[in-house]
Amino acid sequence: MSDTLFTKIINREIPADIIYEDELSLAFKDINPQAPVHFLIIPKKPIATINDIESQDREVVGHLYLVAAKLAAEMGFAEDGYRAVMNCNPHGGQTVYHLHLHVLAGKPLGWPPY
Ligand code: IMP
Repeated sequence: MSDTLFTKIINREIPADIIYEDELSLAFKDINPQAPVHFLIIPKKPIATINDIESQDREVVGHLYLVAAKLAAEMGFAEDGYRAVMNCNPHGGQTVYHLHLHVLAGKPLGWPPY
């Protein structure tokens, strides 16, 4: 898989508003927020899409959700609620081909998406 801009963010080659980092993941604010709170949690391992997740990736992918819940608690929106979602390929609305979990919060979110 070729480098995406998210690999460049991991490597600090381009700037981002990073809010969390550990050995497996990085979280940073979305540049075009769709809710009062909107950040992305990405694995440091470059996995292109949900379709490319392999069984050995189960720990890192599960970890993204643990980070989402941890940050939701720390940032104070866990109780009100939030959405944690991954888009896959064009019909899913994916534009960056490095797996990422969107975390959106801060208001009641509409459903379904159109
Ligand atoms: P996707 O459409 O699900 O692939 O989500 C990609 C997300 O990355 C979009 O919400 C973009 O706004 C966001 N994005 C693109 N470039 C940057 C950046 O440089 N910093 C932070 N977020 C970005």
